[in-house]
Amino acid sequence: MMLELDSLTHRYGTESAVDDASFGVGEGELVALLGPSGCGKTTIVQAVAGHVRPTAGRVKLRGADVTDSPPESRGISVVFQQSTLYPHMTVAENVAYGLKARGVESNRRADVVSEYLELVDLREQRDAYPSELSGGQRRRVELARAVAPEPDVLLLDEPLSALDRSLRERLRDEIARIQRETGVTTLFVTHDQEEAMALADRLVVMDDGSVAGTGEPRPLYESPPTPFVASFLGRSNELSATVTRQAPLTLTVGGQEVVLSDSRADVSTGSAVSCHVRPENLTLGSVSTLSSDAPAVSVPGTVTRVADMGRRYDVTVRLESEEAVIVERTEMPPATGESVSVGLLEADLTIFGAGRSDRLGV
Ligand code: ATP
Repeated sequence: MMLELDSLTHRYGTESAVDDASFGVGEGELVALLGPSGCGKTTIVQAVAGHVRPTAGRVKLRGADVTDSPPESRGISVVFQQSTLYPHMTVAENVAYGLKARGVESNRRADVVSEYLELVDLREQRDAYPSELSGGQRRRVELARAVAPEPDVLLLDEPLSALDRSLRERLRDEIARIQRETGVTTLFVTHDQEEAMALADRLVVMDDGSVAGTGEPRPLYESPPTPFVASFLGRSNELSATVTRQAPLTLTVGGQEVVLSDSRADVSTGSAVSCHVRPENLTLGSVSTLSSDAPAVSVPGTVTRVADMGRRYDVTVRLESEEAVIVERTEMPPATGESVSVGLLEADLTIFGAGRSDRLGV
């Protein structure tokens, strides 16, 4: 691991911001640190950069403990949400300033500046001042300034959140390209799960100061370890269920019995569990096609809302259990008020125990 956080904990006075967070970023890897506002992402960035001394735990770079080292000795570059370019310096001077701060000799600086302005496609703007650039161009200058000194780790703290959506998507691809071309180990902080999934080799999902799950985007999306990860990474329908048999594990979901292929001795009959299923994994059929021996479980309900999202419809169905689910559908949806059956496959169900953090089988 190039960067390691070992049981990092930080409190501001009595307020806990980060609680026993451990994860690593491998050499050349791009890891997204993802979580809602206030979950402790910036505090982690500050602790890694050396601007905050953690209350407990260690920060390691290339295996060496740097928890007590000053920021300038760590070989870490940070790009923040807000611009930190010097307005009185040109683009080239801003990039060169970062190199000077890292001790790159003056006779090499001009070449390195040109190389990195080329990388971010800003060669022609080298003599412009920040005020003469667009928001996207200013972000690219900051990226060039951050990667030109070839840091061991690049920290990007919500670098795109101040930009509009289309620019954000274009710059996201730019960041992916620059990271691939330079191979710089990168921790990318964001609250935007789509941005994180589009960019990262691996995700670290934070919930209220703690690491709630880590993994490659697709496995984490498909097998979330906690209900929080299930609903923060994309959308998830939560259905309450009751265990009616232990072996094979059998549940009642929306009034229908679901027999699962595994057995669990540690959930007792009669205990409450919650089932999560993605809107795109639910199907809709008319009640007349409901067959008791179909492999999928079919739960009857009534359509209460149809939202036309352009590329898809979001169909809200109220089940007989009074719970509502959203079903994604690309074909013509049924009308509001229609009776339907919602079909789901065992493989698409993620089941959590009553403790809410214990994933049961499946
Ligand atoms: P955001 O995306 O909104 O910046 P975040 O995930 O980066 O959020 P942090 O900024 O690390 O989260 O904040 C974590 C918690 O610590 C929050 O409850 C916040 O109010 C608190 N906090 C952060 N900085 C300070 C500070 N300097 N003094 C006191 N409390 C702080």
